[in-house]
Formats: sequence, C-alpha cells, structure tokens
Amino acid sequence: MSWGPRAIIDSSALRHNLGVVRRYAPRAKVMAIIKANAYGHGLAPTARALIGADAFGVARLAEGLALRDQGLGQRIVLLEGVFTKDDLDIVAAQGFEIVVHTAEQVALLLEWRGAKQHHVWIKVDTGMNRLGFRIEDFPGVWQALNGCRSVAANPKLMTHLASADERDSQHTDAQVARFRVLVEKLGVERSAANSAGLLAWPQAHMEWVRPGVMLYGVSPFADGVGAAFDLRPAMTLSTRLIAVRLVKGGERVGYGGSWTASADSRIGIAAIGYGDGYPRQIGSGSPVLVRGKRCAIAGRVSMDMIAIDLAAASDARVGDEVTLWGQGLPVEEMATCAGTIPYELICGISQRVTVEYR
Ligand SMILES: *Cc1c(COP(=O)(O)O)cnc(C)c1O
Repeated sequence: MSWGPRAIIDSSALRHNLGVVRRYAPRAKVMAIIKANAYGHGLAPTARALIGADAFGVARLAEGLALRDQGLGQRIVLLEGVFTKDDLDIVAAQGFEIVVHTAEQVALLLEWRGAKQHHVWIKVDTGMNRLGFRIEDFPGVWQALNGCRSVAANPKLMTHLASADERDSQHTDAQVARFRVLVEKLGVERSAANSAGLLAWPQAHMEWVRPGVMLYGVSPFADGVGAAFDLRPAMTLSTRLIAVRLVKGGERVGYGGSWTASADSRIGIAAIGYGDGYPRQIGSGSPVLVRGKRCAIAGRVSMDMIAIDLAAASDARVGDEVTLWGQGLPVEEMATCAGTIPYELICGISQRVTVEYR
C-alpha cells in the first residue's frame, strides 16, 4: 500500500445512500448527480455503484462523453446543455438529454437539421437567477420547442432551488409555488429538488429528484451531518505518518512557527497537504484521527505535509494511518474548520490522491 494520501470510496455506502434517497422520495425518479468527477469520488466507478438510478446528471458534455467511453449506456442529462451545433451532433449520436436554458440554445435546436430528435429539459428560473428562462419568457420557449421538429415530444421541466438548505426559508416555498403554477397544466415531468430539497421540502419532490451531495453521505445543511439522515460517508481520506519527532517545550513547529509546544511533545508528520486538496485554511488545532484517536493539527498546513500533536495518541508510530475526513471524522466538521462547505472539500481532492474502491 502506498504511503501517500488515499481516498477510499465505499461503494456500498453509495448504494445505501441511493436507498435513502428512494426512502425520502418514494414516488420520484432519481437523477443521480455525478458532475465534477462525482464530487471527487470518481466518475465512472461512482456511476457503476449508482447504476440503480433512473438517470445521471453531469454539468458538461465532456463528462457525459467520459461516461460513454467507460461503457455507461444509461440516461445522461447535461445540466448546462450545449453551446454549438457540433455539440448537438454529438448529443444526438450519444443519446444525451440536454437542459435548455437560453434563447441561444433554443435557436440551435430550431436550426438543427439532423435526423434524430433531442430529449430536452427546459429550465425555468424561479428565483435563483443563475440559469433558466424567466417566467414571463417561458410560454414562448415552450411553444417554440414543442413546435420544433428536432425536439422530442413532452420536454421535461426543471428549476433549481437557491435556498433549500435553509429549512424555514420562504424563498423555497415561493420558488416551488411559482414552478407549480407555471407548469401545472402541461402534464409533463418536472424536477426541482436537489439534496436539500429532497430532505427538507417534500412539496418539491415532483416526478424527478436530483440528489448530489447526499449520495456521497454528506449533509447539505450547515448544521449537522449526513448520519442524521441515515446517510453513510462514501469517501474516507487518509494518509500515513511519515515521521514522528520530539519537540521541546517552547519550540515552534512549521511555517511561520505558528504553533508553539507548551511542553515537550511528540509531533507526527503526515503526508497530506494543500497540494492534495487538503485546504490550507484548515487551522492549527483542527482535528485528525491517528489510530482512530482525535489529535490536533499543530501549525500550518503545507503543500505536502501537516504536523500533528500526538498527545492524544501517545502510542503512534511512523506508518500509522491518519484520517483526514470520512469514517469517524465527518467532512461536514472539517468544512467548518476550513471555512467552507463539505462539497468543496470532497470535490477538491487533487490528482495526486489515489482513489480506491471498496
Ligand atoms: C449540482 C446540482 C444538483 C445537486 O445538488 P446537491 O446540493 O449536491 O444535491 C442538482 N441540480 C442541479 C441543476 C445541480 O447543478
């Protein structure tokens, strides 16, 4: 086994979490969101673990193509759609479904002269103001795409919730209500809920849910952890101690000497740093597990290494496993230490980290 950092991916946790999705939204179809290298978990292997999903959602064409290259023949939705005629040709050849969210994309479809018909999801902006047609523009788009011979019958409808992770936000109620009113009489399939929508806003479930982060066992909410919803962390990031040293009381550790030993201390050096996607923003005093015991980081995160105060793991030796997040140390907690959200931590592990599947 390598001594560098490893992200161990637990495929049974991925499958279990898909089961949790089904439990929360028993009547909805599931578009498993696996963009950004499946949130750092590895695109194709994650898709294989989640093969029970009804479709996969990725952000970009290249991600869809990577899945096809790996032999995944499942339904794949491109959440940002396409931008050129050549893209549309590829989409037709590969059978991808596309989100349509701009007038430019409508025009591309109207002009396209291929033999096939595209399966489209029309995205409506109900208040996020990122992607999607404004409500007042939707009827015209609906008409244009329904009369377009390169578009298959019954386009589906999608919107995205801006504040579903705020459990009592009126914005979510307002977004869902606007969406429902707009599409009520059309009788086509609809989708609004991301993980937070799925867990906290049953009225947003509709015909399709689009879970991302919860599939990886991570809570979409700022408070609490995935375990509160019976989710299991799919990624455990770990490395090893590559050195253990004695530091005398009063001596300083690491760049800038920002940590000072209050007494003679054993310091472990672990092979992980910001060059692996372990953020430098994770401050001195933040937790890691050494031999399963919580220890504190001593001083600054460097590119390839961190220093750990081994006071709580006095038997620790070179070669011992160090867990940075995952089993036993929620990534949600580490995101708080890093001043970010867990999404960014799991997405951000670098090429240098070995990804292994169990
Ligand atoms: C990323 C994404 C999701 C998944 O969001 P999570 O918060 O990870 O569940 C759903 N829908 C769209 C359009 C997305 O871009």
